[in-house]
Amino acid sequence: MDQENPKPLRLYQVWRGSNRFFFGGRLIFGPDVSSLFLSAFLIATPALGFCAKILHIIRKRVAKDEPAVSWYPVLIVAIALTMLDMLFLFLTSSRDPGIVPRNNRPPECDDTFEMNTPSMEWVNGRTPHLKLPRTKDVIVNGHAVKVKFCDTCLLYRPPRASHCSICNNCVQRFDHHCPWVGQCIGIRNYRYFYMFVTTSTILCLFVFVVSWINIVRAKGHLLQAMSHDALSVFLIIYCFIAVWFVGGLTVFHFYLISTNQTTYENFRYRYDKKENPYNKGLIKNFQEIFFSRIPPSMLDFRAFVQEEIMSTEPSNDDAVEDTTSSKEKIDIEMGQNFGEENSISLPEILLNMEFGGIQNNLKTDQDKFVIPVDQELIKESADAFTFEVEANAEEKHDGTKSEHTTTTSG
Ligand SMILES: [Zn+2]
Ligand SMILES: [Zn+2]
Repeated sequence: MDQENPKPLRLYQVWRGSNRFFFGGRLIFGPDVSSLFLSAFLIATPALGFCAKILHIIRKRVAKDEPAVSWYPVLIVAIALTMLDMLFLFLTSSRDPGIVPRNNRPPECDDTFEMNTPSMEWVNGRTPHLKLPRTKDVIVNGHAVKVKFCDTCLLYRPPRASHCSICNNCVQRFDHHCPWVGQCIGIRNYRYFYMFVTTSTILCLFVFVVSWINIVRAKGHLLQAMSHDALSVFLIIYCFIAVWFVGGLTVFHFYLISTNQTTYENFRYRYDKKENPYNKGLIKNFQEIFFSRIPPSMLDFRAFVQEEIMSTEPSNDDAVEDTTSSKEKIDIEMGQNFGEENSISLPEILLNMEFGGIQNNLKTDQDKFVIPVDQELIKESADAFTFEVEANAEEKHDGTKSEHTTTTSG
């Protein structure tokens, strides 16, 4: 980075998740965006082959003065389904799936939620002096729902949000990270994901059926017809295999939508006998997915961030951290506001930035915006299933600072 003549940077340029941005932060992909091209190839190639086959049939019939009218709709449907499929694939992949803005410091103890859960588990990550309960209970539709503290994003995850270990972000209504579209599936792209999967299934079935008709209608014995039409045979086999995959997903997600569950919840809480607090009945569940307004992105990745403030303020934060007295620590645990001298008012967008990592990068002198390797990321995935992480955090207590500096060297 040019230290003397700092150019204003946009949020996407300093974003600490693993996302890949294109067109100046207008398009947001996961780190495995390249798999999108593979998926597009796997759909487009057989679809183009199928369309070429139909065109060939039409030409042959026209040449022989046979009626070809019935084949035009087949061609149009095939093209329309393929284009729709590609559109839904792109819409799923290129949008913010519902990323929750990160905090630059842990929340102040109290006010975020209605009900504090008495808990023996404490968050003990970046700010060892600050003790926050690892989980809190919030009330959703009359049910108590546990929300967890995210060590990476420094926030209590909203209900249904989870931290994607691949993208390194907390995502609202996290469903899963789809390696085929190279993006998280969350609150803002689940609808498109389901449309993509469903359209793929319909396209598969359509190509499968029409290819069979081509074989059956051909003159001569079935095997003979098959040997003369290798493309149709290939398409039949290809679609037969693919439809198990996309069809299975369509049925599975149909079930999830009808019961208002996410894939994550389904896998995680399968054995819990607890009632699903989000289930509003079949019709309302479908309405929620397909006819509700998609919430706007919580982040403006094209907004400018003030680099200067970002690189100078954190040291202040650090000093406070170092000099926190035990008295102050008790205050924090009691839920009082901490570090009054620390309450610098910053533009909202900056509150979404993590100063911690930037500051650590500065310590290690390198490029200011090297994305640090997050220890918390590794902890995060384990965290989803067990609290054994807590033990590690405890062990880390004293060595947190030195460890951070060593992990940020890029
Ligand atoms: Zn997170
Ligand atoms: Zn992801």
